[in-house]
Amino acid sequence: MYTKFQQFLQNELTSIDTAGLYKRERVIVSPQGAEITLANGNKALNFCANNYLGLANNPELIAAAHEALDSHGYGMASVRFICGTGDLHKKLEEKIAEFFGTEDTILYAACFDANGGVFEPLLNEEDAIISDALNHASIIDGVRLCKAVRYRYANADMADLEKQLQDAQAQRFRLIVTDGVFSMDGNVAPLDKILELAAKYDAMVMVDESHSAGVVGQTGRGVTELYDKKGQVEIITGTLGKAFGGAIGGFTTGKKEIIDMLRQRSRPYLFSNSIPPLVAAAGVKMVEIMQNSNALQDKLHFNTEYFITKMKAAGFDIKPTKSAICAVMLYDAKLSQVMASKLQEEGIFVTGFYFPVVPKDQARIRVQLSAAHETEHLDKCIAAFIKVGKELGVVS
Ligand SMILES: *Cc1c(COP(=O)(O)O)cnc(C)c1O
Repeated sequence: MYTKFQQFLQNELTSIDTAGLYKRERVIVSPQGAEITLANGNKALNFCANNYLGLANNPELIAAAHEALDSHGYGMASVRFICGTGDLHKKLEEKIAEFFGTEDTILYAACFDANGGVFEPLLNEEDAIISDALNHASIIDGVRLCKAVRYRYANADMADLEKQLQDAQAQRFRLIVTDGVFSMDGNVAPLDKILELAAKYDAMVMVDESHSAGVVGQTGRGVTELYDKKGQVEIITGTLGKAFGGAIGGFTTGKKEIIDMLRQRSRPYLFSNSIPPLVAAAGVKMVEIMQNSNALQDKLHFNTEYFITKMKAAGFDIKPTKSAICAVMLYDAKLSQVMASKLQEEGIFVTGFYFPVVPKDQARIRVQLSAAHETEHLDKCIAAFIKVGKELGVVS
């Protein structure tokens, strides 16, 4: 039975590889951090993790996780509503709501699940979802699982959003959905204008703060802080897998009745396991660290500004960003791959992206800054960019 299918898969895999799109894993044998060790013993400076606040290997989080491992054991072996809710899960939900200034929170195993389970319980064929064209895959999948009528607007294009909202006036309820930060350019959703249009056309707003929580806004409360709109969007989703410790877990936070309905009907919550207590405990510690001090955010913002200023001064073409994502534009697909691998030879881990991941002729190297980086790490990275950039004629 398998022979024909095997042949089919082998051909597909070969064509993926020939197109240069085959994904290969790079094995790391050290904890995640600014400096990592690879399986072959080589060390590298990591500029492609979502470890924005450097919490992935933070001693206070590790201690909190150890403590919970001793006091609460390893796993819950249950979904939340049967017997998978511990005091630490409730505590973390409260803490996340405090952090964003929202009414209630529901935890999921991942933000992929939060987004997968947010639309279908709330909206049906009488309603409309108006979604940014560059929203994350998990939002696209979540929208597909829902019967609401779908509208799409060009990335952060407010004229197009207005047009889609006009077209959606016949529906009962309207929900505008956007990423807070878009992961390829690092640009921030224009939430002030989105909220104006939402008010004008009677729509609700959902923001996925996965790349912005902990990062954007002076105290890292995300795009609602950046635009001074805390508590003004109905739904926020986010991940514990990026700035918030980097382990695993996701959440939806927002209006009380919305969260309540998700607890009744959201399928990834009802039919998938509870996160381990040690992750919840470290999550509580993570929010406390941010409530007690702004040092990590300050350092991240300093690092981002430092890196971008020096890279621009060296002649690199950097996309405007308000996040910790810095797109170094090269435009040429081949060049982006050659440059990324030469940087890797210099011990700098970055990723080159090209079509279809980004638009045609918009190839780039994406650099992700972190509070884990010290100035010497940034200087080494910039020096490597300049060295390789000169070799390849990107800068003079
Ligand atoms: C990373 C990311 C997710 C997925 O988060 P996980 O917790 O890893 O599943 C969802 N949405 C956006 C915008 C993301 O960047």
